[in-house]
Amino acid sequence: MADTHHIPESPAGIDPATLTHEQLHGWRCALCGTLLTGDRPLGTVTLSQGPTLTTYPLWACDPNCTTENAWRAALTHAAGCEACRTGECATGQRLLDAYPTAIRQEHAEGAG
Ligand SMILES: [Zn+2]
Ligand SMILES: [Zn+2]
Repeated sequence: MADTHHIPESPAGIDPATLTHEQLHGWRCALCGTLLTGDRPLGTVTLSQGPTLTTYPLWACDPNCTTENAWRAALTHAAGCEACRTGECATGQRLLDAYPTAIRQEHAEGAG
């Protein structure tokens, strides 16, 4: 049992360790890293820094990340991620999943 590094529940399968300072502070989308203008709450993540637990509210593009942003986020992540090369990366999978979601969203908006 390795419970020395317990990772609390996080929204949308987000691993808080992969988030940047700007994402944790709500300046950028926690899903795709775009600077936020309109935003929607995603929930909170809790990061442990030594003995201190800090909870951050996360924000994402409203109403959804655009296809362009989602795709760029997936590529940017995969380029620097060891786990993605072996095909076992939850973060990479989440980013890839955001892409078809964004496409559906854009189509829905286009249809009125
Ligand atoms: Zn986004
Ligand atoms: Zn990855």
